[in-house]
Amino acid sequence: MTTSPELQNIAEAIRARQRFVISSHSRPDGDSIGSQLAAAYALRALGKQVTVVNADPAPPPLQQFPGVTDIVIADRADGEFDAAIIMECGDLARTGVAGLDRCFVINIDHHPGNTEYGQLNWFDASAAACGELVFDLVRALQVPLTREIATHIYLAILTDTGSFHYSSISPRTFDICREALEAGVDPVLVARNVYDSNNMGRLKLFGAVLSAMQIDSTGRIAIVYLDHEMARQAGGTYEDTEGLINLPLTVKEMQAVVFFKQTEGDEYRVSMRSKGNIDIGSVAKEFGGGGHKNAAGCTVTGPVDALQKTFIEKIEEAIDGRPAHR
Ligand code: 5GP
Ligand code: MN
Repeated sequence: MTTSPELQNIAEAIRARQRFVISSHSRPDGDSIGSQLAAAYALRALGKQVTVVNADPAPPPLQQFPGVTDIVIADRADGEFDAAIIMECGDLARTGVAGLDRCFVINIDHHPGNTEYGQLNWFDASAAACGELVFDLVRALQVPLTREIATHIYLAILTDTGSFHYSSISPRTFDICREALEAGVDPVLVARNVYDSNNMGRLKLFGAVLSAMQIDSTGRIAIVYLDHEMARQAGGTYEDTEGLINLPLTVKEMQAVVFFKQTEGDEYRVSMRSKGNIDIGSVAKEFGGGGHKNAAGCTVTGPVDALQKTFIEKIEEAIDGRPAHR
């Protein structure tokens, strides 16, 4: 296990305090929820008072995991806290929760480009999930790895590695998963809860979005698009698109996928995924977003045709390591 000075300082700061608020990024994913709740269970095992606050609810399949329904959904952290633990956020604004900056801030993250906004910062871009760091934190706090804690850590790793697809995976990832299984995690049940508990509207929406999918001229980049009208017609919601972005990459030739989701007017949430060494994290960064080498996102505004063209060019450059020849 890692015993970095950052981890030791954080463990000490936690031991010395009593009331905690734990937050993560808006539109939380499996790593946010898993990291937050693993830490919440560990701190409660030490007799600490813990409130978990997120700007948005967990996606429906994650609602079945222990403690998820107790998460407070709010855009402000109300109450008296001795410290705020922020997971998975490159900067504090990613939480979408106001009032955290008045606390003693402990920043635990694995996103490249973390702005070190905390009084204590522990940032490790080599971790495949923030949940790997939480595993080390649980150990440093000498809290036994209960089944709840282990389940949340496993959930974080399973989802943030794209079900063990991304290049961020290391031997440490599997060491932690092995310990999680030894602590009683049922990997079949976790996978079934995360991936096989959707509604029919979601399947219909997948069909509609994939039917409208475009491929770039080199046959390596999939462009998927969704607006409110398409979602309405298919009988699904935006939340139902979780995981859809990974499907185009199941095609052998496909190297990257970019997903444009209309938010309002001509503003779009852009999500990207890539295979292997293709760094779409730097593409997202060029547009004011961020993320990792194989999974990243940003928000952009403009005519969607022009935006798609620009992103395809940038992604082709990322694939070829130079501006695309056309
Ligand atoms: P997703 O496509 O699932 O929304 O995000 C993929 C990854 O990129 C996640 O690790 C997420 O934290 C990061 N990411 C997505 N959108 C943004 C953004 O607007 N800003 C930053 N800094 N990171 C983002
Ligand atoms: Mn993560």
